[in-house]
Amino acid sequence: MPLLQPVRIAQTRSLWLQEALVQESEASLPPLHGSVTAEIAIIGGGYTGLWTALRIKELAPETDVVVLEADICGGGASGRNGGLVLGWYAKVKNLIAVCGQEEGVRLARAATDAVDEIGAFCAANGIDAHYHKAGLLNVATTPLHVWDWDARVAELERLGLYGVERVLSPGEAAERGGSARYLGGLFQPDAATVQPALLARGLRRVALERGVRIFEGTPVLELIEAERPRLRTPAGEVIADKVAIATNAWAAGLQELRRAIVVLSSDMIATAPARKRIEKTGWTGGEAITDSRLMVHYHQVTRDGRIAIGRGSGALAWLGQVSDAFNTPGRRSLAVERGLRRFYPTLAPVPITHAWSGAVDRSRTNTLVFGALGGNERIRYGVGYSGTGVAPSLIGGRILASSLLERDDEWSNTRLNRGAAILYPREPVRYFGGLLVREATRIKEESEERGVAAGEVVTAVASLAPARYPRRPVK
Ligand SMILES: Cc1cc2nc3c(=O)[nH]c(=O)nc-3n(C[C@H](O)[C@H](O)[C@H](O)COP(=O)(O)OP(=O)(O)OC[C@H]3O[C@@H](n4cnc5c(N)ncnc54)[C@H](O)[C@@H]3O)c2cc1C
Repeated sequence: MPLLQPVRIAQTRSLWLQEALVQESEASLPPLHGSVTAEIAIIGGGYTGLWTALRIKELAPETDVVVLEADICGGGASGRNGGLVLGWYAKVKNLIAVCGQEEGVRLARAATDAVDEIGAFCAANGIDAHYHKAGLLNVATTPLHVWDWDARVAELERLGLYGVERVLSPGEAAERGGSARYLGGLFQPDAATVQPALLARGLRRVALERGVRIFEGTPVLELIEAERPRLRTPAGEVIADKVAIATNAWAAGLQELRRAIVVLSSDMIATAPARKRIEKTGWTGGEAITDSRLMVHYHQVTRDGRIAIGRGSGALAWLGQVSDAFNTPGRRSLAVERGLRRFYPTLAPVPITHAWSGAVDRSRTNTLVFGALGGNERIRYGVGYSGTGVAPSLIGGRILASSLLERDDEWSNTRLNRGAAILYPREPVRYFGGLLVREATRIKEESEERGVAAGEVVTAVASLAPARYPRRPVK
């Protein structure tokens, strides 16, 4: 009977959750006490769990849905992320590798539609999640990251994807992004930013309004696979017809999913409000920004005029265990700050006021890994966002809802819903191999930022990491 790994509650909440929680009048929802039944029980109250619940209520409003959340809804990655609402054009090659060209392109389009659907859902349901659609600047921050952007656009066009990305000249990248470090890149118009915790808490409110029962402070300790699955919690149990495991990185504690994902931290900091100084850099359009590294920097300007910036691939989990290292970045926040100061030297006097961290579930294919646990169609899981889950979790919710409702549609039938296409090696190879590749990537990318290509051995080891973006240097 699968035991679920414990959730360590963060002692310090992200800037986003702190902001969202002061706006709420009610305390968190009470934990489950006693035994209840449900048609569908969802473990995890992040975007995936909440979109799944909402989609079930949309398709089959009478369904009795219960969400069990160990912390508070949005306490995981959904309340801690960078708030970049991105589609999947950057992953279209990964999608095609797993699903074939027709479905890969369809999914890439669907994820981009999700960017608009999130905005529309917020508007229709009175969720002020600071949704702002101004596109994404994906920039090179060293000459060694100046790829053949034209070839990339041509590649997308060959797939029938016109106008989804366009080349940014070095001047335009620097001007719009407000940094002389930005040496050109790509502009994706269909991208937005949100205040992520307000989105998570808004989804929770709407789910409650639509009759979903949510228990917060209720970790599921054990999933007992009987005729009707039973979810054991500290003070009760849920007996359900069907179950969705929407626990993101924590799912790596399950034997079956351990090799489907690696758990990495992503670390974030936020500056004090400094709107005037930020405007002086020229970054006034509200665009989201990412650089071209694998240990990617991602940033946005918040509504109250801070820069919130993160960096991927900090800590690595041993055996998929989400330890306290995934709640607080500690010294890793210094590396994030170095990135910020490098991009925006004129912000040097602006202090850092917040630092937090969260866990990312990276699959080998860089795409979703959804399926039936142990082939049991009553227990579905969904992981593998690989660092881009804000918009794609809406798709994740569709896949889970269609599967649980036994609908025969494009979502239940997607290739992404048939388990992991490729697994990671077993421990300890995965962990120590992962540390080696991460360290080589760090050395390589820091060296590239100094304008020096890393040595052959370091480059060879770093190349074992799945590339975030098609890497095609100009010369
Ligand atoms: C720092 C950071 C920055 C990121 N930035 C971006 C970004 O800018 N753009 C983007 O697209 N994506 C980003 N991501 C990824 C994105 O946040 C996630 O892919 C997305 O939030 C996943 O949603 P989820 O609901 O699957 O997971 P989560 O939000 O993590 O929800 C899982 C929930 O399950 C709960 N849980 C776990 N185990 C149990 C249990 N046994 N019982 C009950 N509950 C349990 C957890 O408490 C948690 O609330 C980032 C992630 C991090 C960590």
